[in-house]
Amino acid sequence: PIAIMWHRRDLRLHDNAALYYALKAGRPVLPLFIFDKDILDHLNDKRDRRVEFIYEEVLAMQQALHKQGSTLLVRYGRPLDVFKELASEYTLANVFTNYDYETYAKGRDAEVATYLKSVNAGFHSYKDQTLFDRDEVLTGSGKPYTVFGPYSRNWLSKLDDPFYLKSYPTEKYADRFLKTAPTPMVTLEQMGFEPLNEKFPKSTVSDKLLTTYDKTRDFPAQRGTSELSIHLRFGTISIRELARQAQANNLTYLKELCWRDFYFQVLDHFPHVEHESFRREYDQVPWLNRPEDIERWKAGQTGYPLVDAGMRQLNEIGWMHNRVRMVTASFCVKHLLIDWRIGEAYFAEKLRDYDLSANNGGWQWAAGSGTDAAPYFRVFNPTEQARKFDPKGEYIRRWVPEYNNPAGASVTYPAPIVDHAFARQRAITTYKTALNAE
Ligand code: FAD
Repeated sequence: PIAIMWHRRDLRLHDNAALYYALKAGRPVLPLFIFDKDILDHLNDKRDRRVEFIYEEVLAMQQALHKQGSTLLVRYGRPLDVFKELASEYTLANVFTNYDYETYAKGRDAEVATYLKSVNAGFHSYKDQTLFDRDEVLTGSGKPYTVFGPYSRNWLSKLDDPFYLKSYPTEKYADRFLKTAPTPMVTLEQMGFEPLNEKFPKSTVSDKLLTTYDKTRDFPAQRGTSELSIHLRFGTISIRELARQAQANNLTYLKELCWRDFYFQVLDHFPHVEHESFRREYDQVPWLNRPEDIERWKAGQTGYPLVDAGMRQLNEIGWMHNRVRMVTASFCVKHLLIDWRIGEAYFAEKLRDYDLSANNGGWQWAAGSGTDAAPYFRVFNPTEQARKFDPKGEYIRRWVPEYNNPAGASVTYPAPIVDHAFARQRAITTYKTALNAE
């Protein structure tokens, strides 16, 4: 009998909780990755950066295992069907995996666990992608936190115990992978995708960047953030290693990792946020959802240069600076009165670091409907934001070259889609009426 290590958003062989427990248990371990048809078939754009990123990382893991006489089994299909196939090919003792917080994943895992039980195999899942699980950081009365401040204080004080940041020494048991001949790898084309040959950010951050992070992180023209989001999303780095580095260098950065944990536990405890406002009364807001506004916002043609620069950065490279994510999301929801779910879905399609928990958290924050959200009467002024955070206009010039173009240039920049003072007042009045607020 063998054990299977099912990798999902933990594409690494080092410091991996489930892999460590699988190897330590003593049976030969066969690692597995499934390109999930249920997810991939729903992606409309077949040139998808994330699929390419996963593909490259899975291939690298497989090659590393081939070098030591083992393999990573790669299948393309529905997870339940794949496990049925595997149960006919191997005697399965148990399956190890790392916990996933999304509703779809929880349902998928429950289905697989039930099936495995019917063939007398166990299903074991571990905390790996977060520092704390849903029930490890709770209020004094044992309830989940819905406000970030007290959550982060509790979270930070728990980290005084070095236990939570210890790495899992998987390498100690590296001889316990199942010895087997190399196995084939499905190609991107066989799954209907086209390679983009994208260059992805590196998976490390320097101590130097972390040391100055609190001073550089708000200025989108600088490379003042770690750009590790895609690696955190797919587990190509260990959150424990990164948090240790942050702890040694910069509290502000460590707190960003806390936001990440915070939104995971929000999604886990309050799964309704995936489709509804966390504060349900916000679903009364009568969104305008004008198709032309939606299209101009998506294309970066609103006539507000910081908003347009952000949307064009997103469209071109699949990543947007956090400060600008806040401004573009706020503009979409408040200036244009577009339902946050429409903006959220667009980011979900385009972001290379798309993560349901953080994206939903960010959008509901902007809409005011979330856990620890911006109040409805706070409406970002995109021109002021540009003055403050892109004072020399470098970021704007990079992504919106026609802005400030001399008259008669071939591409002209559009006039503002809506007047700021008018839009601000309209947002406040609309929200106030819908919420019956004072
Ligand atoms: P850094 O500033 O270097 O931060 C380090 C890491 O901390 C990030 O990689 C991320 O994992 C985590 N982090 C930082 N800020 C947040 C935050 N507010 N919430 C949760 N985690 C955070 N982040 C995503 O990973 N995926 C998303 O889909 C996503 N959608 C967002 C949508 C909106 C509307 C907003 C306002 C924010 C969103 N964020 C999302 C959070 C944040 O913008 C990105 O994590 C960050 O810009 C990624 O770049 P970085 O790795 O250089 O971040």
